[in-house]
Amino acid sequence: MFDINKITRENVKKLQPYSSARDEFKGSATVWLDANESPYPNSCNRYPDSSQKILKEKISVLKKIPSKNIFLGNGSDEAIDLIIRAFCEPHQDEILIFPPTYGMYEVSANINAVGISSLPLREDFSLDEEKISETIKNNKRIKLIFICSPNNPTGNITPNKIIKNIAQQFNGIVVIDEAYIDFSITDSFLSEINSIPNAIVLQTFSKAWGMAGARLGMAFSSPDIISILNKIKPPYNINILTQNEALKTIENQKNIYEKINIINQEKNKMEQKLNDLDIVENIFPSEANFLLIQCKHSNEIYKTLAQQGIVIRNRGQYVKNALRISIGIPEGNETLIKALQKINSTILQQS
Ligand SMILES: *Cc1c(COP(=O)(O)O)cnc(C)c1O
Repeated sequence: MFDINKITRENVKKLQPYSSARDEFKGSATVWLDANESPYPNSCNRYPDSSQKILKEKISVLKKIPSKNIFLGNGSDEAIDLIIRAFCEPHQDEILIFPPTYGMYEVSANINAVGISSLPLREDFSLDEEKISETIKNNKRIKLIFICSPNNPTGNITPNKIIKNIAQQFNGIVVIDEAYIDFSITDSFLSEINSIPNAIVLQTFSKAWGMAGARLGMAFSSPDIISILNKIKPPYNINILTQNEALKTIENQKNIYEKINIINQEKNKMEQKLNDLDIVENIFPSEANFLLIQCKHSNEIYKTLAQQGIVIRNRGQYVKNALRISIGIPEGNETLIKALQKINSTILQQS
C-alpha cells in the first residue's frame, strides 16, 4: 500500500519551511513596512501572494477540484524538479521513464543525482505493462514513474485504465504529465485523483493556454502530496505579473477554447496535405498540437527548411527519420506545406 511517509525524503519531512513576510500576518493592514519593498506603486512593487490563493480559487473552479489539491509551479518544469527532490534520495533512488518522451524528466533527475531506469515504448508507442510490472517489482529504488499523455514527441495517449493499473501495483508515485490534454478528446486523469492517492497530474498554461513566456504549471494530487511540494518550493515562485495574467486568461477562457478548435482543425488539414507528399512515409496519430512524421531524407528536409527560416524539430535520434511539427497559425502552416511541396518535387526529379 502507498504510504506517503515511506516515500518522502527524511530531510524534507524534517524541514522547517521559510516563513515569508506575509505568512505571519493575518488580517487586513493599511501600512506595509515589513518586507523592505519599494513603497511606490507599480504593477509589481509588492511581493506576490506565496500561496497564490486567488489564482488557485479560479483554477479550482476551472478544473473542478478543490484548492487544497492544487500546486502551482514556475512552469510544470519546476513541479517536475520539486517532485524529484521531495521523493528521490540522491545517489540512491531512481525514476522510471518511457522513451521517447519529454526530455526534462531525465535532465531533472540528472541535476539531482537521481538514477534513471528506462523502458522504451513499444513499436506503436504504447506502454509495455508486463515489463513495467516486472521492473517495479524487482527494482525497489524506483520511487517515481513519469507517464506523459499525450506523449511528447509521439502524440499518443495512454488510457487512464492502464495508468490506474500501474499506480495500483506501485508503492511510489505515478506522475501523469498532461501538458497537451487540452487538445485531446480523452478525459484527463484528474477525475481519478481522489481514488488514486499516489498519482500527481501535471498540466500547464504553456501550450493551449498561450502563456509559455509567463511560466505557470499546475500539479494536482492529494492534499498530503501537495503540502510537501508547497513546503519545498521557493516562497515566491509564481510572480505577480504571471498571477495577474493567468487570472485574465481564465476570465477570457472562451478565447482559448476557440483557438484550440482552430488548431485541431489545422492539424487535420496539415495531416491531409502531408499525406499527399511522397517524401512523407508515415504520420503518427496525434492528440496534441503537433504531428510526428517519418520522412525520406528527414535530415536534409530539416536543414533545407531551416535555411528558409522555417524551424521544426528533428527527432531522428529518437524515432527513425522523424520530424515533429507544431501546428501554427494557418499562414505559417501554409508556408511550411508550400516549402515541403517544393522539396518533394525536387527530390522526385532527382530520383
Ligand atoms: C511543453 C511541455 C511541458 C511544459 O512545461 P512548462 O514548464 O509548463 O512550460 C511539460 N511537459 C511536456 C511533456 C511538455 O511537452
